[in-house]
Amino acid sequence: MGDWNVRLNCIFDLMVLPFDDTYFMKKALLEAQEAFDKGEVPIGAIIVVQDRIIARAHNLTEQLNDVTAHAEMQAITAAANFLGGKYLQNCTLYVTLEPCQMCAGALYWSQISRVVYAAKDSERGCGVMGTKLHPKTVLLGGVLETEASMLLKKFFIQKRNLN
Ligand SMILES: [Zn+2]
Repeated sequence: MGDWNVRLNCIFDLMVLPFDDTYFMKKALLEAQEAFDKGEVPIGAIIVVQDRIIARAHNLTEQLNDVTAHAEMQAITAAANFLGGKYLQNCTLYVTLEPCQMCAGALYWSQISRVVYAAKDSERGCGVMGTKLHPKTVLLGGVLETEASMLLKKFFIQKRNLN
């Protein structure tokens, strides 16, 4: 009976764990965790084309002393290098926090097909700032939102306690 349950669970996993938005957002969250471990604001991003991850990045603004070193900016550059072209057609960016104005601007120029984010940034996100993505870009938010915002909260609480 137990064996059968295990087998059923395996079949269930195969059915519910294809390459979907949740699967890829988990990969972006792993990047965010890497940023967290380095003392960076924990934001991670990956870029996927045809279910294949072609770029992984996390926020490195502290390490590089560079305000432009957001996860999305690095992922865009890495993906373009991988593809050998500047336009990210048929690509999806997964990022753990809603892109800021700068990243939304860069995503605009890349003409990326889809942008999926986890947590909303109600202060500095492209939505509240009124920054537009490319008309070709489909935007979706809220995938693993709780996980992403919990990591961010944990980071800022820890930082506050250290100071
Ligand atoms: Zn940004």
